[in-house]
Amino acid sequence: MAIAIYPGSFDPITLGHIDIIERGCKLFEKTIVAVLRNPNKSPLFTVEERLQQIRISTAHLSNVEVDSFEGLTVNYARIRSAQVLLRGLRVLSDFEMELQMAHTNKTLAAEIETVFLATSKEYSFLSSSVVKEIARFGGSIDHFVPQHVALDIYKCYAKTQHGQNPTLPETAPRVNLPHPN
Ligand code: ADP
Repeated sequence: MAIAIYPGSFDPITLGHIDIIERGCKLFEKTIVAVLRNPNKSPLFTVEERLQQIRISTAHLSNVEVDSFEGLTVNYARIRSAQVLLRGLRVLSDFEMELQMAHTNKTLAAEIETVFLATSKEYSFLSSSVVKEIARFGGSIDHFVPQHVALDIYKCYAKTQHGQNPTLPETAPRVNLPHPN
């Protein structure tokens, strides 16, 4: 059985990501969830916060490792002796970008395969950006991310500005939310 790297931003991890991780764990000896340290993005959560969120969210899985990396994913995969890059596919618009990335990675490292898992249909609309957007406009995100991540999001925005948004759900602090990246 192969070792798989599941790379991404995970800003923050959603139930869609967790679904892919759980299914990856059944297919591969080990799945390494790898947070890309990307200096070109301004994320809501630091890499360390995201690592912690992913660790808590995957604590029920025995063959998961959580790590971060910078630079080319294929270089990181080689360092970790992984043979597979795991990616999730949602809608058709994911496909073009993912295929381009898979071809690029194959050219850089012919021995590494990209494996796509189709999203479970209940998560096909779900992305980290959507979660941040919903929270920003005061909607409940409790069905989209684990509870501890939802609390982190509410807390994070509460730090920015407290007491301004009248439409946040009952359980959340009432805050104004900054625009997601
Ligand atoms: P990236 O910036 O690399 O796209 P993301 O954290 O947004 O990082 O996504 C990481 C991977 O998880 C990607 O392959 C993405 O397609 C997949 N993914 C994200 N959301 C879902 C979802 N709801 N269902 C299935 N796969 C998903």
